[in-house]
Amino acid sequence: MLSIQDIPTLRQQLKKVHDQKIVLVPTMGNLHQGHLELVTRAQSYSKQVIVSIFVNPLQFGPNEDFATYPRTLESDLAKLQALNVPFVFTPRIEDIYPQLDNHTQVAVPKISDDLCGIFRPHFFYGVATIVCKLFNIVQPDIAIFGEKDFQQLHIIKKMVQDLCLPIEIVAAPTVRESDGLAMSSRNQYLSNEFRVQANEIYQTLENIKSQLLTKQNSYAEIISNAISNLENKNFKVDYISIRDKNTLLPAQKEDAELVILIAAWLGSTRLIDNMTVKLC
Ligand code: AMP
Repeated sequence: MLSIQDIPTLRQQLKKVHDQKIVLVPTMGNLHQGHLELVTRAQSYSKQVIVSIFVNPLQFGPNEDFATYPRTLESDLAKLQALNVPFVFTPRIEDIYPQLDNHTQVAVPKISDDLCGIFRPHFFYGVATIVCKLFNIVQPDIAIFGEKDFQQLHIIKKMVQDLCLPIEIVAAPTVRESDGLAMSSRNQYLSNEFRVQANEIYQTLENIKSQLLTKQNSYAEIISNAISNLENKNFKVDYISIRDKNTLLPAQKEDAELVILIAAWLGSTRLIDNMTVKLC
């Protein structure tokens, strides 16, 4: 396995395998089973898998956890080595942003300012910029992203379409803990007590899904009951929203493919999750 920090070396190495499909898995490291299943999915397309590990300063707000985000490079590399990943890209901030305070940004308008974008206004601009840069550096044929970050996946698909990038975006299903909590590097911020409660988000998604399938209540009623229920259990809810799965616009009565999205705080940990629903 080659672990490479600088862009020219990476490009030189990738040139040697350019006759094969290159599959990119972008991550911020602190790898868990959710990330590793993206890698396995990548390997079903090609042997030439490249995993990037970069905690992107641009997608963190001034009061967010950039400084404390878990960085575990050594154990990440061991996990990727065990999966026989041939390339890992671990750039330094200065490799990616030679001028961090003055750089070109990629903006995917409207949808970046909705849902999580309302609460983290910088976030999707930072995500679109780093993913576009990684695409230009690696020039993959395929890139794999998790459905766990549903809005992010939607924004990246739109960016690829809008900028005519010749890259296939593959979505991988959310990997969960045994109690339903979506795996996330930020779960380790939870105290023992909050960790036990955290699966309420998954329970809420399941509960909303069954109400949608049985068409019991209006969307507005379903959402307001779910918010009250979570807030009674120590959560501070940023949003619960029912959207059209394909456009991410607010769901209308006639929409058949929906996604329920939740963002909520438990103590100082912000958790996000989602679940798709197909109405017949
Ligand atoms: P991150 O390191 O959190 O930026 O995530 C890197 C990639 O892994 C993104 O495409 C995420 O959507 C994906 N990912 C994170 N957690 C999970 C999970 N529990 N299941 C599936 N994919 C995930």
